[in-house]
Formats: sequence, structure tokens, C-alpha cells
Amino acid sequence: MHKVEHVYIDGQFVIPDGDQRLDLYNPATEERIGEVRIANEKDTRSAVLAAKQAFPAMAATTKAERIDMLNSLRDAVAARPSELIETMTEEYGAPAYFAAFSVRNATSIFDIMAETVGAYDFDRVAGRSAVKMLPRGVIAAITPWNSNFGFMATKIAHAIGSGSTIVIKPAEQSAMQTQVFAERLHAAGLPGGIFNIVNGTGPVVGAALTGDPDVATISFTGSTAAARIIQRAAIDGMKRVILELGGKGPTVLLPDAELDTAIPIALMAGFTNSGQACVAGTRILAPRARLAEVARRLTNETEGLKVGDARDPQIRIGPLANAAQWERVQSYIRLGLREGATLLTGGEGRPGGVEKGWFARPTIFADVTNQMRIAREEIFGPVICLIGYDDENEAAAIANDSVYGLQAYVLSADVDRARCFADRLMAGRVVINGAPHDPRAPFGGFKQSGLGREIGSYGLDELLEPRAILTP
Ligand code: NAD
Repeated sequence: MHKVEHVYIDGQFVIPDGDQRLDLYNPATEERIGEVRIANEKDTRSAVLAAKQAFPAMAATTKAERIDMLNSLRDAVAARPSELIETMTEEYGAPAYFAAFSVRNATSIFDIMAETVGAYDFDRVAGRSAVKMLPRGVIAAITPWNSNFGFMATKIAHAIGSGSTIVIKPAEQSAMQTQVFAERLHAAGLPGGIFNIVNGTGPVVGAALTGDPDVATISFTGSTAAARIIQRAAIDGMKRVILELGGKGPTVLLPDAELDTAIPIALMAGFTNSGQACVAGTRILAPRARLAEVARRLTNETEGLKVGDARDPQIRIGPLANAAQWERVQSYIRLGLREGATLLTGGEGRPGGVEKGWFARPTIFADVTNQMRIAREEIFGPVICLIGYDDENEAAAIANDSVYGLQAYVLSADVDRARCFADRLMAGRVVINGAPHDPRAPFGGFKQSGLGREIGSYGLDELLEPRAILTP
């Protein structure tokens, strides 16, 4: 039984004042595997005060000092990656391949920020004035469970790169990963107060953080629904808000797409992290003339996907993170049937032969129109909608007809043609022909997928304010 007892404030693991406990489960077995003691408003305030106290010294650091801190954090996180991978898999069923990717990402984000700081122009000239790019103050960061320490690493790297201090409230369901990750970060030996980590629920710790008068910027990754509450909380304090939210990514198979390569890429995009990814490509758009062939191939490939023990590196689809997620996916599958979509494969319940665990069946719906709720709402599970189009104009219109605009995918035998099509998409990122992840590309969304960007200089810009000094 894992017991997560501490929060991390001012460079130390301390017992929080809050004494409520939440149970933690293994989603593959439904067994209770641990508990977390969660913080309250008083603990949140202590964390903000620690960050506030550490801010002036952090804001005064040089580029070289920030780069040193980022390098120490990178080294500390890179040590013992297997511990992080195993905890992520045990705690929420992340397939091992995805957990390994998250750890690599969490490591490289510190390198990328060190590079960015090295190249960033903090001292500029405008007109006759000297302009300095200054950190705004304490950052409150709130992260979701689906790639918990990846987002924590991103937010901490940005805070340090910008010379800010930070308080993070990770998702309360990820307390074990948080604990392992916090221990790694602590090993880097940074001065206390620069980063603080407080386990707690959204309505208590999250609300206390976003409402705290000493917080200057809120950096939130999570659902669009929670972001609305957070933005309202930010209004009174005039806090800057950076939002990384949900998606309903289109995967557009252009008429010339080679299906042998396109179908596996499309399924990988749709079923990333068992479909529990903001960037998942969950609407596959195919030319009407090729719909039957695409449907047949999607069905065959999906039926060949292994669902099961997330620790197995061959497994693409593990359990969903918790019972609520499983129920949510089931209700969307029932909704798809009521809306008149045709079930090609998958459907309600667990995969054949599986009796326990929050495993859902990888599901593909055909005959979907973009007006159906299953095509408009983020399901956050392994459910893909297949939608037909007549020509590229219609494909672009359907792809963009969404309240979201996070990540899109385009597949074509001709990269230039795919690039021209990508130019028509309102998405923060467009991935052509399964291009590998680019950890240096800006990340964020249009429309209700978010506000602002993370990564590189785009990420730093959000956290800095220019101060101009005018001389006679
Ligand atoms: P969620 O919005 O329910 O929770 C995210 C975080 O917000 C958690 O830490 C939660 O405790 C906190 N929270 C909830 N209510 C709050 C409130 N009133 N005040 C302050 N904090 C509050 O999301 P989730 O279920 O953990 O994660 C899944 C969602 O996150 C999906 O919508 C997914 O698309 C999105 N997501 C977006 C990105 C991105 O970078 N764009 C990445 C991953 C996940």
C-alpha cells in the first residue's frame, strides 16, 4: 500500500495541515493500491508565500544560473526512469510505450528550455528605450492526470526559464507519480520556494491557488469545463491565464493517401494513450469514394490491436484511468448508437476475455456526421468517428467545424499537397504523415482548446512582461 503523506513546500517534504485522504486505485485490477493525504487552503497559502518569498532572488538570476538550474533538474529527472514509468503504468494504466515517451519528454523539456533561455533576448531596445523582459511573479500551475509529470516538468521548466517561482497543483489522482517525480526534482538541490507542489482537489486547492492575490499568472492544463471556472477566478486579480485544454482532432486522409501507411498512423493518432490524450485524432475524415475501403481497413487493424496489461511494451491500449472515465466512454458509445452511427468494431463493455479492470473496447463508428455529439464532444477514450467528405473544401470545412483547434493530422502521398491543406486548418499543430513528435514546436490551441502557447520562446513570452526605461 502506497501512502503519499507529504506536500513539497519551500524545498521540503512536509505533512500538510489538511488531513483528508483520497484512495488511489490500479485501473487494471480495480484494487485500492494507496492513499493520498490532500492539502487544504492553509497549505496552499503557505506554498504561495514560499514562492513569493523566493521570487525576488529568482527574478534576479542570470541566464547562466537559470541554465544551471535547468540542467540540474534534467539530470535529476533522467536518473531512474523506470521508477517513473512503472508508477505511471500502475497508477493509471498508461501503456508502457506512452509512459516511456512521457519520461523522455519530461527530461528533454529542461534541455529545450535551457536552449531557449540561452537564445532569448531578455534585454532589448525599442525606439530610444531600453526594454527588459521581466517575470510577472508567482505562477500557479494546475495539471491533469493523463500525463501528470510531463506537464509538471513543462510548467517548472517554463517558470525557471522566465525567472519566476511556481506552485503546482497536480491532479489528485496522480499522487504516486507526483511523489516519485517530486523526489527526483528535490534531488536537483535548487533553493527552497522556487517550485512547490501541493496535492489537493480542484475545488479546494485549485480554487485557493487561482484566487490567491499573490499569484500573478495561472498556467492550466486540463478540461475546457474547469478552465471556464479558472478564468472567472482570474478576472478580479487581473491574472494572466495560459490555458492548454481539450481537443477533437481531425485526421484528414486526402484523396491520394496511401492507405497501407495512413491507416496505422490514423489509428495511432486516435488511440494515443488509449484515447486519453488532448491531441488524439478522434475524427477520421476520408473521401466518400474511399469510405468503404477505409472502413474495412480501420476495422481490421483495430481488431488486431492488443488491449491489455499496460506494462507490456507491445500493448497499445491499456485500461482507462478510472471508473468514471470508463463510464463516460460507455455512455458516449451508447450515445453514438442512439444518434444513428454505425458501429464498425468495439462497442460497450470490456474486450472479450477481460473480466476486471477499466478496459474499454477500441471502437470505430462509421456513418457519422460532424453534427453528432460523438463528433463534437471530447470523449477521452478509444472511440473514433469516421466521417466522409466530397472534396478538399468540404474536408477543410468539417475539420474546422469544431469548438476545438488543438492538433490535426493530414495524410497524403504528396507532402506539398498536405502542407497546402494544413494551411487551411485552425489548429495549434498540424502533423503531416505521422511526422515524429517535435519537442521544440510551440504547443497550444485555437478556439476552446486554449489560450497562449507553451514551449520555447513562445512559452517564455507568455510569462514575461516588458519594462521600458525611457531616458532623456
Ligand atoms: P480536469 O479539468 O478535470 O482537471 C485538470 C486539473 O484541474 C486537475 O488538477 C483538477 O483537480 C483541477 N481542477 C478541476 N476543477 C478545478 C477548479 N474549479 N479550480 C481549479 N482547479 C480545478 O481535467 P482532467 O480530467 O484531469 O484531464 C483531462 C482533460 O485535460 C481533457 O479535457 C484533456 O483534453 C485536457 N488536456 C489538455 C492538454 C493540453 O495540453 N491541451 C493536455 C492534457 C489534457
